[in-house]
Amino acid sequence: MLTALDIGANPSSVHGEGRDARRVVETARTSLANAIGGRAEDIVFTSGGTEANALAIQGALKLIPDAVVLWSDLEHSAVKGAIEASGAQQRKIKLTSEGILDLDDLGNALEDLGGKTPFLCLMHANNETGIVQPVAEAARLVREKDGLVHCDAAQTLGKLKINVGLLGVDYMAFSAHKFGGPQGVGALWFRAGAPLKPIMLGGGQERSLRSGTENVSGIGGFGAAIDVTAELTGVERVQEIRDRFEALVEASAPVTIFGKTSERLPGTSNLALEGFKSETQVMAMDLAGVAVSAGSACSSGKVRQSDVLTAMGVPDELAGSAIRVSFGWASTLADSEKAAESWLAAAKRAVPSAFKEST
Ligand code: PLP
Repeated sequence: MLTALDIGANPSSVHGEGRDARRVVETARTSLANAIGGRAEDIVFTSGGTEANALAIQGALKLIPDAVVLWSDLEHSAVKGAIEASGAQQRKIKLTSEGILDLDDLGNALEDLGGKTPFLCLMHANNETGIVQPVAEAARLVREKDGLVHCDAAQTLGKLKINVGLLGVDYMAFSAHKFGGPQGVGALWFRAGAPLKPIMLGGGQERSLRSGTENVSGIGGFGAAIDVTAELTGVERVQEIRDRFEALVEASAPVTIFGKTSERLPGTSNLALEGFKSETQVMAMDLAGVAVSAGSACSSGKVRQSDVLTAMGVPDELAGSAIRVSFGWASTLADSEKAAESWLAAAKRAVPSAFKEST
């Protein structure tokens, strides 16, 4: 990133400094292509996961007038917003109680389309529960009906192995800051030949799919983060730290850990203790110096009950008592122990009745 800032030139300029800046952008594009088993020329850099999702969904649907968008409560508000903005017909797919897309319901929806083109939006792993989704199986069902699949992988790059060809998707969105890259940069990969129109017009950068001077230092940082995490060597360590936290809280409190038996992201823990409201937990942990989030926190900072947990059939009282604890590249075992201790101390104060037997 510092190299790019020092260059300071526009990557579209033909002078030497411009070519140096171009090299930063293209090196990062190649790093991302290698990390996802795709081609560099099929990658468009964006301002983040939100824009990558919007470009895929709105940009593709402009060219598919008979599309029916299939989506579920798993999806991030960036995806839901883009679907709404597209004005396309929609059909919502159910979730199972394990927090994964219900493939039977998807099959039924695909049978009911009356010749229209299915366009499935299915994220790779959920941002609240960390639960990994059956993307390859769902994509196979959609392809059998000549449909298209967009996958929001903002949560998985740098944490899970990704191969766009094996997953069988047509579009995949990424965000750099979810795995240690800088904020405000992301990318969209699309299958060669998949329908895609720009949603912003201007200077024609990024093969005319995303006009605007590239965020060269951000893109350079994105590429560097990909290079550092390419072998996914840190993943087991993060999982160990997350598992330590869960083992400590489970040993002393009657908590529910969502997705515990499912394949999950290594650093995500979503847990609830009935009667211990999400916002109280977030505040108590903050006072103890531990930063956690409620299951779903909108940008205004207010805590809103999670659509994902509700769609999994979690009762309101329990869903209203859920928090999301995320561990990452900078976390340590001591952090997870401190988080567990702080959470248990606050839980004992807030819901003493839940601890009666053990005290
Ligand atoms: N999609 C998912 C699953 C996310 O978790 C996020 C980030 O919160 C986004 C999209 C949006 O990404 P960005 O913040 O880079 O726009």
